[in-house]
Amino acid sequence: MINYSKFYSERMLVMRASEIRELLKIIEERGNIISLAGGLPDPRTFPKQEIGETALQIISEKGEKALQYSPTRGTAYFLDALRKFLQRHNVAVHGGDGLIATVGSQQALYLLAKTFIDPGDYVVTEEPSYLGAINAFKQYGARFITIPLDEHGMRTDILEETLRKEAGSGKKIKMIYSVPTCHNPAGSTMPDDRRKHLLELASQYDLLVVEDDPYSFITFSEEKFTPLKTLDKEGRVIYLGSMSKILAPGLRLGWVLAVDEIVSKVELAKQAVDLHTPTLTQYIAARLLETGILEKRFPLLRKLYKEKRDAMLEALEENMPEGSKWTKPVGGMFVFVWLPEEINTRKLLDYALRRGVAFVPGDAFYPNGGGYNTMRLNFSFPPPDVIREGVRRIGLAIKEMLSDMK
Ligand code: PMP
Repeated sequence: MINYSKFYSERMLVMRASEIRELLKIIEERGNIISLAGGLPDPRTFPKQEIGETALQIISEKGEKALQYSPTRGTAYFLDALRKFLQRHNVAVHGGDGLIATVGSQQALYLLAKTFIDPGDYVVTEEPSYLGAINAFKQYGARFITIPLDEHGMRTDILEETLRKEAGSGKKIKMIYSVPTCHNPAGSTMPDDRRKHLLELASQYDLLVVEDDPYSFITFSEEKFTPLKTLDKEGRVIYLGSMSKILAPGLRLGWVLAVDEIVSKVELAKQAVDLHTPTLTQYIAARLLETGILEKRFPLLRKLYKEKRDAMLEALEENMPEGSKWTKPVGGMFVFVWLPEEINTRKLLDYALRRGVAFVPGDAFYPNGGGYNTMRLNFSFPPPDVIREGVRRIGLAIKEMLSDMK
């Protein structure tokens, strides 16, 4: 018998399977469970016919290029169409900026970790924060300084206080990682004044800012929010975007927009990973952008997700115990719930699974521990009546658990 463990790199020692993926496996195995745990877009939003027709056209018209190796940065066709798309949606692309196509924004997070993080470096982030980012940063030995959030995203007053306190601590703080619009898992969105405050602090303490923005293109609020990238006058913001929530996640297409010097480094980091992002995927997305087919569908997506969000908020109102609170997202896919302190959501999950419903216990999203009374609920995937039934069952599970605790 070979002892494989002695061969693994030290890096592998910190790697854990994503808890959510493990939980989803359990749900799938058990079957018959309403899952408010996952984070999948509604497949009805995938423009199957348009993607199919476009793929055929591209292969017959430009197959020699679309099926060939292509530059690490991405194809000019996609990057040009993407630049115009970003500009139409108020994401500032400056003369000195570069763009690189990545395999989803998850790869972008990984490449940023590889580009910037040495073991022991600190990343400042919201508490809770996106698990995929925490895991990517952890692989390179990052530690975290976490800043609580509320309905309006990161509490920049606490950020200010924290950065002031940490200033003389000797900690090497590299960046602030934030999901300012439709946060995963929190469902919060930062108003512009907080965004400006965050950027002022980044400037004062000379930090980079990673703005992770997969959700802002299909928000459904009247209020408009300005991307950090657009508010940034100094070239500190590294902007990540994705086609996953506005087109289809299976295409695995995302991007990094930042000053060209940084994008060159990301390009170097990517070369050794996969040479380049799939060419065909880029061509399909470029064509859907160029023809306007992609954006024409945004109103439909907004309507569908708004209905589901409303169903979830109504059901929460009806079923959560006194002393609970939750966010009211203006888009994205998740509502985050704070239950009364005495309810541990890991324990609650057992009760919930017995009643045929699943959610993600929120502590999974707290890189430094905490959040034991919180949970993340997904509203993008299940139909509205299933959402209502799922939340009703969670309400019953809470009642049962509380009565067992008496
Ligand atoms: N960032 C955030 C905040 C996300 O919610 C997700 C997907 N759930 C990602 C990044 C990764 O998305 P993708 O790799 O599909 O672009």
